[in-house]
Amino acid sequence: MGRIFLNHLGGSRLFSCASCDIPLTNRSELISTRFTGATGRAFLFNRVVNLNFSDVQDRVMLTGRHMVRDVSCKNCEAKLGWIYEFATEENQRYKEGKVILERALVSESESFDDHYTNEN
Ligand SMILES: [Zn+2]
Repeated sequence: MGRIFLNHLGGSRLFSCASCDIPLTNRSELISTRFTGATGRAFLFNRVVNLNFSDVQDRVMLTGRHMVRDVSCKNCEAKLGWIYEFATEENQRYKEGKVILERALVSESESFDDHYTNEN
């Protein structure tokens, strides 16, 4: 079947890849919803699994200069957001090692009860 090994953090409210629906993180890992990404609203998470990482890029943002890696889905390779490797501004250091997922690229759902199969 060529299955890819996937992690699962568990939890009651899950954030999944909007393209292929594999779980990425959950509500308890959510730090902030007040971020902005390329597609609009974005969320900052403490820990996210099932990601692929790009090479480190030097990016100047509204909050200063950061070293980031773009993150994409390990399963379907859809772009999801980025991870902060290093922040040059002292007051932005709390973001280091944290992951941004863009709201439009993930789906939020209740665990285990969000899939209903159509029997017809
Ligand atoms: Zn995916």
